[in-house]
Amino acid sequence: MTQPPLPPLPLRAPRALPDDPAQAAERDARYMRAALEEARLAEAAGEVPVGAVVVWNDTIIARGHNLPIRSVDPSAHAEMQALRAAAQVIGNYRMPECELYVTLEPCAMCSGAILHARLRHVVFGASDPKTGAAGSVVNLFEQAQLNHQTTITGGVLADPCSQLLKDFFGARRRAQKAARQPAANPDQNHDTEA
Ligand SMILES: [Zn+2]
Repeated sequence: MTQPPLPPLPLRAPRALPDDPAQAAERDARYMRAALEEARLAEAAGEVPVGAVVVWNDTIIARGHNLPIRSVDPSAHAEMQALRAAAQVIGNYRMPECELYVTLEPCAMCSGAILHARLRHVVFGASDPKTGAAGSVVNLFEQAQLNHQTTITGGVLADPCSQLLKDFFGARRRAQKAARQPAANPDQNHDTEA
């Protein structure tokens, strides 16, 4: 069974990366701030605050934020949302000229999608010691056997990216604790929580 040929990429652009490290850092921070805006949208929706943007030719062409609860979809991570939207804009699931900025280190699922999309480069903010697949738990971006290599940079605006998550989980823990507070009824004191 032969596969139909892929359509040519309709969008072509030269790489427009600044040589000056200070300019490159400013550029990364600018797009990470846009990803942070998306993360705040997730937070406003009651979701874990993670946001992402896809950049092509120094333009944000797609945005996404974490929505698995609202969409009842375990794959609705910020990166997946942004990648799906970007593929529609590009008209191809392969996006070798695109970069993705995300506030949290991608998980294995999103890293897989990033590699399938043949992205050029990924920039993330905070590390994720629980599910990070860009070095924290595993590193899918340094597997030489894979058919595509996407370069990756971490730690861009890591502090505001992780603070947003800390504030979210802190508020959620306080809310859960308040909900568990024994009510006036002493029968409710038999809380099994250790
Ligand atoms: Zn993910």
